[in-house]
Amino acid sequence: MTTTIRTLPLPSGRTMPVLGQGTWGMGEKRAQFDAEVAALTLGLDLGLALIDTAEMYGEGGAEAVVAEAIAGRRDDVFLVSKVYPHNASRRGVVAACERSLKRLNTDRLDIYLLHWRGSVPLTETLEAFATLKQAGKILDYGVSNFDTDDMAEAVAIMDGAATATDQVLYNLTHRGIEWDLLPWCESRGIPVMAYSPFVSAPPALTRLLGTAALKAVATRHGVTPAQAALAWLLHQPGVVAIPKAVQPAHIRENCAAYDLALTPGDLAELDRAFPPPRKKMPLAML
Ligand code: NAP
Repeated sequence: MTTTIRTLPLPSGRTMPVLGQGTWGMGEKRAQFDAEVAALTLGLDLGLALIDTAEMYGEGGAEAVVAEAIAGRRDDVFLVSKVYPHNASRRGVVAACERSLKRLNTDRLDIYLLHWRGSVPLTETLEAFATLKQAGKILDYGVSNFDTDDMAEAVAIMDGAATATDQVLYNLTHRGIEWDLLPWCESRGIPVMAYSPFVSAPPALTRLLGTAALKAVATRHGVTPAQAALAWLLHQPGVVAIPKAVQPAHIRENCAAYDLALTPGDLAELDRAFPPPRKKMPLAML
């Protein structure tokens, strides 16, 4: 059964699904290729149309996995990729984008992101993004791992409507962005893409999913702690979640978490176990 995932408006007027699929760690081992393609394909079949990738993941390998999964159904996919900061010069961005498009076997990206801020002046990167947008090779562009001051700078450089999203680390154990970045983006109609909803890998993943409060909430709803953690993210306004999963059971669980309605009591219990920030925290990154 296909789940219809709600969308959030982007500043450009286009829309982005609030739940998708990550690909970090894919495309690294030839033996895993078929399983990874099957995972993304299952996700697409279940309604998870957003796929997040990057030239960094498997050094192009993840984009090759994605290409296989989206073959013949590109129009049904919302495709996000990212440029390395060391490729983010005026010419470098255009060349990197062309390489990504080729690996992905597509003519366009729905959103192209600067993976994190490096030494290339931001103006240069954003102008190159604008050029790619004009050419129709990317439909929107944005940034990743930008804190509020970086976002303010990006928005000031280009016209305010240009920055589509900021993709940052956000989950129950990393709530720092609730202090200022999240409200700042929300007030400007800029959705935040939350990466690593399960804190990526053990031991942090195991710690999160083993937390008593999360297990208690999950038990009350007859779901897994991972589903409760994902549902919590989807309850945050203006947030898009991109869990990565290869195991079919995980993909099915993540998709089903979309329908999980947490109660005010659940949310309060999670707030006690994973307190929101009481002051400005530096942006956490993986
Ligand atoms: P994640 O999604 O937090 O966690 C991935 C791990 O969780 C995998 O081991 C996966 O196992 C497991 N998992 C998935 N669903 C599960 C479930 N229902 N129950 C239990 N375990 C489950 O980690 P992530 O890959 O770091 O983050 C997600 C995506 O965000 C990335 O893939 C990438 O696209 C993006 N990202 C972006 C940045 C950035 O700098 N912009 C940084 C990090 C990540 P299996 O794979 O075995 O199913």
